[in-house]
Amino acid sequence: MNQNVIELTNISKSYGDVKAADGITLQVKKGEVLGIIGANGAGKSTTLEIMMGIRKPDTGTVKVLGMNIENASNEIKQKIGIQLQQTALYDRIKVKEALKLFSSYYDKKRDIQEIIETLGLQPYLNKYVKNLSGGWQQRTSLALALVNDPEIIFLDEPTTGLDPQARRDLWSCINHYRDEGKTILLSTHYMDEAQKHCDRIAIIKKGKLVACDQPQNLIDSYLQGAGTMEDVYLKYAVSQ
Ligand code: ATP
Repeated sequence: MNQNVIELTNISKSYGDVKAADGITLQVKKGEVLGIIGANGAGKSTTLEIMMGIRKPDTGTVKVLGMNIENASNEIKQKIGIQLQQTALYDRIKVKEALKLFSSYYDKKRDIQEIIETLGLQPYLNKYVKNLSGGWQQRTSLALALVNDPEIIFLDEPTTGLDPQARRDLWSCINHYRDEGKTILLSTHYMDEAQKHCDRIAIIKKGKLVACDQPQNLIDSYLQGAGTMEDVYLKYAVSQ
C-alpha cells in the first residue's frame, strides 16, 4: 500500500513572469485521497494538469504509475480518469451518448451500466448534459472519468458551486471509488471537505508547495491543535 503512484520531482512551470509551479516535489501513494488547496491562482490546476500530462513542465520530472510521463503519456492516459472544471466540451450531447463516446476512447472499459447505477444516473440518461443541474452535471463528469476503470482519478474542484446536499452526495460517490482502492487527487476551496475526506492535504502558495500532511497533523503543527483546516488555510495559504 506504500507504493508511490505519482512522483513529481522539482516541477516548475512559468507563464511569462508568473510562476504557476515553482519547484514542486510531491509523492502520492496508491489508494490515498490527496487534496490540493490554495488561493485562486496559486497553481493547483497547473500542478494537477502536469500530473495528468495535459501540461508540460518547464523543468522537473513526472512519474505516473512508475512510468515517465514524457515517454509513456499514451499508456498513462489509458490508466487515469480526469474530471476537469466545468467544461462545455460535451454539454451538447445526452448523458448516455457522452458515456458511450468517452468509453470508446479507451482500451479498458468499465461496465457503463454499473457506473450509471452507482451514480444514480439512470433517470438522466436521455437528457442533455447542459440541461442538468450543477450537481448532476458534476456526477456525469465523474462518470465520464470512470469509464476506463482508472487507477488514478483526478478531480479539479469537483464540488464548486454545488449546494450542501449535492456536495455531500457527490462525496459519497467519490468515497465509493476510494473504498475500491482508487487513488484520488483533487483540488478544492472547501476546507471542511478537505479536512473530512482527504488523507493528506497539499498547500500550494504562489506555485510553491508549502506543506503536505494529514489534516490533523497540519492543524497540530501549524495551530497547536486548536482550530480547523480553514484556520490553517487562512494563516498559511493566503498570500501576505
Ligand atoms: P483557481 O483556484 O483560481 O482555479 P489555481 O490555483 O488552479 O487557481 P492555476 O490555474 O494553476 O491556479 O494558475 C496559476 C497561475 O498561472 C495563475 O496566475 C494563472 O493566471 C496562470 N496561468 C495558468 N494557466 C495559464 C495560461 N495558459 N497562460 C497564462 N497564464 C496562466
